[in-house]
Formats: sequence, structure tokens, C-alpha cells
Amino acid sequence: MKIGVLAMQGAFVEHEQMLQSLGCDTVQVRKVEHLADLDGLIIPGGESTTIGKLLVDFGLAESVQKRAQQGMPVWGTCAGLILMAKEIAGSEQYRLGLMDITAVRNAFGRQVDSFEVPLAIDEVSSEPYPAVFIRAPFIEKAGPSVKILAEHNGKVVMARQGSFLASAFHPELTQDGRVHAYFMDVVRESRQKV
Ligand code: GLN
Repeated sequence: MKIGVLAMQGAFVEHEQMLQSLGCDTVQVRKVEHLADLDGLIIPGGESTTIGKLLVDFGLAESVQKRAQQGMPVWGTCAGLILMAKEIAGSEQYRLGLMDITAVRNAFGRQVDSFEVPLAIDEVSSEPYPAVFIRAPFIEKAGPSVKILAEHNGKVVMARQGSFLASAFHPELTQDGRVHAYFMDVVRESRQKV
């Protein structure tokens, strides 16, 4: 299995290390050619306006959308969640818009820039996952085909729509590979369908 990690800006190396530790091949995606034989793609955390602008400037935006529409699984973490959203509250910034969700940026307040909580994600594991939030967004609204996977303080922080996944936290910044393993399962499922 080969999963690409969008490598424009943000925490892409950490995603690669986690995937590699789970036996997955990885590619740093910077050019359209890098998308060619990927089984899945991760959009990492970082700064969503910057990553969005670079996606467009590098000519990757439309190719990522096309591959995704053809069935390639895509997972956005944190800034990546924002880029997965069709709507971003109060912002016209570029987004891939792959999921029928509305994202709210910097949603947990400025006082608490980052924190870690044990998060229940039943679909991923029966034991809580140590979720690291850094100036994280949340999902304010989700369409009927979106499945809510986790909430923190009544706010939706992880969701899935078909082969698309979005999480507000950073599973690449822990030593716990369960969420990456879950995405690899999503990729495996989608290959079986083809
Ligand atoms: N606050 C950032 C944004 O809005 C996301 C933060 C992150 O990815 N850790 O783009």
C-alpha cells in the first residue's frame, strides 16, 4: 500500500513516519506526477490558507479533486480537515470541498492553543485515543451522508463520508498508530470495491 502525504507545509514528515511504522509506503506529494499510483492521500495539519494557496499555485488542487472523485481515499487532519470541507464558516479561502461539512477554524479559543484529551472513537478502537489539538477546527454542520466518529465537549472533531475522513486533532504527533491504521483500513476497503 502506498499513501501520499501532501508536503506543501505543515506536519507531513510525522505522518510519513507513522505510516512507515505500520508497514505502509509513503510519498511526499508536491507535484501532479506524485499522485499517479497512490492508494490514498493525507492532507496534514499546518495553516489551511497557506496549504490551500500552495495547492492552487503548484497546480495540484484540481488533480487531487479529480483523483478523490474517482475514489481515492483522502484524510485531512486539522488544517487538512478545513481543506476537506465544502464550507468554512466566515471564510472564502480555497478548499478542496470533498466533504459535506462546515468547518469552524480556531474553534477551541485562543487561551487554550493546544491540549490533549482521551477521545472516544468507537469506530477506531474500544479504548480512548490520546488526541492532540493545536488551534484546532471543529465540524459545525454535516450533511446526511456524513458519519460522525468523535465529539469533544459537544463539538464534532472527527467524521467520515465514504472514503473521506476528517479529524480536527493530530494523530501523527502521538506514538499511537490506531487512527492511521484505521485510514489504512479505509484504503483497503476502497481497493476491494474497485
Ligand atoms: N488553525 C489552523 C488553520 O486554521 C489549523 C491548525 C493546525 O493544523 N494545527 O489553518
